[in-house]
Amino acid sequence: MSKLRFRVVETAFKKRAAEVPAPAERPSDYFGQNVFNRAKMFKYLTEKAYERITDCIDNGAPLDRETADAVAAGMKKWAIEMGATHYTHWFHPLTEGTAEKHDAFVEHDGKGGMVEEFSGKLLIQQEPDASSFPNGGIRNTFEARGYSAWDPSSPAFIVGDTLCIPTVFIAYTGESLDYKAPLLKALEAVNKAAVDVCHYFNPDVKKVYAYLGWEQEYFLVDEGLYAARPDLLLTGRTLMGHESSKNQQLEDHYFGAIPTRVMEFMKDLEIESLKLGIPLKTRHNEVAPNQFELAPIFEECNLANDHNLLVMALMRKISRKHGFRVLLHEKPFKGVNGSGKHNNWSLGTDTGILLMAPGKTPEENLRFITFIVNVLMAVYRHNGLLKASISSATNAHRLGANEAPPAIISSFLGTQLSQVLEHLEKSEPEDLMLAGKQGMKLDIARIPELLIDNTDRNRTSPFAFTGNRFEFRAVGSEANCASAMLALNAAVAEQLKTFKTEVDAKIADGKEAFAAILEVLRKDIKECKAIHFDGNGYSDEWKAEAARRGLDCETSVPVIFDNYLKESSVRMFESTGVMTRKELEARNEVKWETYTKKIQIEARVLGDLAMNHIIPTATRYQTSLIDNVYKMKDLFPADKASVLSSRNLEIIEDIANRTNFIKEKVDEMVKARKVANKIESEREKAIAYHDKIVPMLEAIRYHIDKLELVVDDQIWTLPKYRELLFIR
Ligand code: ADP
Ligand code: MG
Repeated sequence: MSKLRFRVVETAFKKRAAEVPAPAERPSDYFGQNVFNRAKMFKYLTEKAYERITDCIDNGAPLDRETADAVAAGMKKWAIEMGATHYTHWFHPLTEGTAEKHDAFVEHDGKGGMVEEFSGKLLIQQEPDASSFPNGGIRNTFEARGYSAWDPSSPAFIVGDTLCIPTVFIAYTGESLDYKAPLLKALEAVNKAAVDVCHYFNPDVKKVYAYLGWEQEYFLVDEGLYAARPDLLLTGRTLMGHESSKNQQLEDHYFGAIPTRVMEFMKDLEIESLKLGIPLKTRHNEVAPNQFELAPIFEECNLANDHNLLVMALMRKISRKHGFRVLLHEKPFKGVNGSGKHNNWSLGTDTGILLMAPGKTPEENLRFITFIVNVLMAVYRHNGLLKASISSATNAHRLGANEAPPAIISSFLGTQLSQVLEHLEKSEPEDLMLAGKQGMKLDIARIPELLIDNTDRNRTSPFAFTGNRFEFRAVGSEANCASAMLALNAAVAEQLKTFKTEVDAKIADGKEAFAAILEVLRKDIKECKAIHFDGNGYSDEWKAEAARRGLDCETSVPVIFDNYLKESSVRMFESTGVMTRKELEARNEVKWETYTKKIQIEARVLGDLAMNHIIPTATRYQTSLIDNVYKMKDLFPADKASVLSSRNLEIIEDIANRTNFIKEKVDEMVKARKVANKIESEREKAIAYHDKIVPMLEAIRYHIDKLELVVDDQIWTLPKYRELLFIR
C-alpha cells in the first residue's frame, strides 16, 4: 500500500480551520498600520523634509542628500518603534518574484559597542551582489554591477522585523534589470502624452495617472497532499493526473459558500494586507474546485503592482499557517479552469476625471471617445507585443484552452460603444458639429455608464471595455503585472503623441480643434477596425477571421517573444523613453532562457516520476495479475482458465504496452534535450524545447493517466486529482 499518499489524505481530512481572531479595531483603524505613509511622514519628518519628499512623490522632483538623510532618520525611528531590527531594499528582478537582502540597523559605534544606524545614503542606493539575477548579458558585457535605488512613489513598509524599501534595480550603465524601472518610465510617458491630449478639453489638467485594479485567481491545496506531489512542489503544476470523475461540471463551486478552512486563510490574508495598506475588497470561490479569487480596490498602477507582488508573497506565507499551499501557476490542473490575473486598467486626471468613462456633455463624450479610440489604436498597432507581454511557458497552458481567450489579442466594446464609433465613422465632421445657440454643439450620442457595465459582459475577450476601464484578461496569475502594464502604457503613450501631432497639424492648417480631433478619430476608427471584435473569442471561426484581419495569431511562446524586437516595438519603446534596443535584446535573452529552463525542469521531473513512481507501481500491479493468471491455470482446466483470465491478460498487455511506450519516450526526451542543450542561440534553444520537448511531455502524460485508471488504487503513490481538488 502507498503509505505516504494515504497518510496525507487522512491527515488532510482531519485538519480543522485555524481560527483567526478578529482584530479589536475596525479595518479602517489598522489600515496602513505597517506602512510609512504620508501620515507617518508628517509625524516623523521635519516640516521641510516632509515638503521636499511630497514634492518628490507628487512631482518627481529630485531627491537631495539632505532630504534623504532626514527621511531615513524618520523612517528608522518609526521602524524601530514598530519593532523592526532589519531593513532591505525590495526589488523586482526578472524572475516574476521579488528579491530582498536584509541588513540589520546596527553599526559599530567606534567605542566597542553598536549603534542603530540607517543613513540617507543607504536609503537611496544599495549594491546588492546581484550577479545571480537574470540580466540577459547586460552586466557581463559591460562589466558593471547592479544597484537598487529607492522609488519614493511607493511607500516603505514593515513585514515581520524588516523595513522594506521598494526600489528599482538597474545596471551601473543605466539599463533596467527589473520590472519597476521601465514601468515607472512608461507611467511617466503616458502621463505626459495624456496630459497634452487632455489640454484640448481642459487646460487645468496637470497630471494623468494610470490605474490598475488586479483580480488574482489562485488554487489552494492541502500542504500534505502537495508535499506528496513532487511535480507540484518543483514545477507548480501537476504534470500528470487523470481527471476526477467530478470536477467543475456542476458549477457548484463558483461563488459558493467559502469552505471554513479557506475562509480563515482569507481572513488572515485580508487583515495582514490591510495593515500593509493593500485595500482588499473582494473574495470568492472561482470556477474550478479549490480555486479562489481576491481583488483590491484599484490604485495608481505602480503602487497597485507593488501591492500585487506583496499579496502573492503574503499568500505563500499565510497559506502555510492554515495547512495549505497556494498555487499561483496559470494551469496547475489539466481539465479544469486555470488562473489568470485580470488587469483592470484606466487613465484618470488629477482633476478627478476618469478618461475611460463616458461624460455628461458632448464635449466630455468627445474626450471619452478620444481616449477610447487611442487605446484601440495602440492595442491594434501593438497587438503582437501585448501578447508577448503576457506570454510565458506557464501562461501558455491557459490561453486558448477553452476557458481563457485564444492567443490572439482583440478588444470587446459592447453594442453601445460600437454604435457610437460606427456613427462617428459614418458621419461627416460637419454633421457632427452643429451650430447651437451657445456655440458649437457636438452630435455624439451619450453612453449611460451603468448600462454598459451591466449589460455587455463578454468573458471571451482578452481586452474588454467594461464601462469605465479596459480589462486586460490575458495576464497570467503568476506574472508580474508590470510586464503587461509597461507595454500597454508605453503603447498608449506613443499613440497619444502621434494623435496630438496629427491634430496639431490640422489646427495649424486652420481647422477648429474639435473638428480636427473628429477628423483624426474618424481615420483611426477605420484604421484599427481589425482589433475590435465583440463575438465569441473561443470559437474556431474567430481564429480564422483574426488571421484574415492580420492580427498576430502565433501560438509558440518563444516565437511570440520576437514581437519585442520588431522595429515597431523598438521604435515605440525608444521614442517613449521606456526601454532601449539593448535592454529589449537583453530581456528577450532572459525570456527565452527562462522558457527553456521551465520546460527543462518539467521534462526532468516527469522523466523521474515516470521511471521511479509510475513504471514500478504499474509493474507491481501487473506482476500480481500475472501471478493470478498462473494460479488460475493451476486451479482450473486450461480452456476455462484462459476464459476466466482474459480480462487480466488484457490489462497485463495494456500495462506492458504503456510502460514500454513511456520508457521509450522518456529516453527519447533525454536525447532530444541533449541535442537542444547544445544549441547556442537562446531563441533557437527555446524553440527546440517548444517544438520537440513539450509534445513529448503530453504524450508521456497521456499513457500515465491511462495507467492511473487501471492500476490498483491502494498502491498508487501520487495523490489523485479528486484528493488534490476536493479536500480542503
Ligand atoms: P469583475 O470584473 O469581476 O466584475 P469588479 O467589478 O469587482 O470585478 O472589479 C475588478 C477590479 O476592477 C477591482 O479591482 C476594481 O477596483 C477595479 N476597477 C474598477 N474601476 C476601475 C477603473 N476605473 N480603473 C481601474 N480599475 C478599476
Ligand atoms: Mg473582472
